[in-house]
Amino acid sequence: MFQQRTLKSMVTGHGVGLHSGQLTRVRLVPTPPDSGIVFVRTDLVPNVEIPATSANVRDTVLATTLGVGAVTVATVEHLIAALAGLGVDNARVELDGPEVPILDGSSAPWVQLITEAGGTVAQRKAKRFLVVRRAVEVRADDKWARLEPANTFSLRCSIDFDHPIVNSQSFEMTMSDTAFLREVARARTFGFAKDVDAMHAAGLARGGSLDNAVVIDDFSIRNPDGLRFPDEFVRHKVLDAIGDLALLGAPIIGRYVGHKTGHALNTRLVAELLANPRSYEVAEFKATREAEGAQVILPSFGLGGLATA
Ligand SMILES: [Zn+2]
Repeated sequence: MFQQRTLKSMVTGHGVGLHSGQLTRVRLVPTPPDSGIVFVRTDLVPNVEIPATSANVRDTVLATTLGVGAVTVATVEHLIAALAGLGVDNARVELDGPEVPILDGSSAPWVQLITEAGGTVAQRKAKRFLVVRRAVEVRADDKWARLEPANTFSLRCSIDFDHPIVNSQSFEMTMSDTAFLREVARARTFGFAKDVDAMHAAGLARGGSLDNAVVIDDFSIRNPDGLRFPDEFVRHKVLDAIGDLALLGAPIIGRYVGHKTGHALNTRLVAELLANPRSYEVAEFKATREAEGAQVILPSFGLGGLATA
């Protein structure tokens, strides 16, 4: 069977929040099967737990913010994408502030932290998958996102900017831990210099610098080391989608297609799927034979204990 996974051991990292500029310590802690991914604000007394589920999404402007009651945790998407990409179903993410550190603007530093702590371990409980049975789609102007039935979890994103460097790009991948690490984990978030300057003026992106985002001028990349991939921008869109879809609470078997997407549209897509029970079902692959038959799914991705259905 495909087993649930958690972290091999506890590990601590720290960094600055993109929007708050606040230094925050993060501790990743292994948890039992069916725990899911749960953020814990340890700076509050008593501590407040915020499960990483779509029901707890509070805000999707600039970054994804989760919340329970009045307590929030911001910019969760790249850490959640790293956990999903490594197949982690169960973990506590303890942090002593309101925002997950941005680090280099990709999932790579989180992957590295987890790898340094020994990676992940299988647990004695079957992993549950969310199998897409009927297509669902959401639109906003010329942007759209869709989930449709498929035998694997695959993603295709396209972007279309009127800009000499970003312009039209598309990227497609079938999810596996190796594809995640090789193709998208290192892709950084990006922004246009004029927007970044405006955000700084508005007191936003206070922790933002060339160390944690690709910043694009009218005709060039401001970062002295340039890009990690020629199409790093659209690869980051795929990474963001992996993190946003992880809020379904279980790894998907289906195909995601997104055009000019962002966290807001992806969050609407997740809500649309969950609002239509006939569009999905929850499945476990218990027998080895069954698992072999479904090997294209690949054993090592997973997004957390199922919160719905
Ligand atoms: Zn992102």
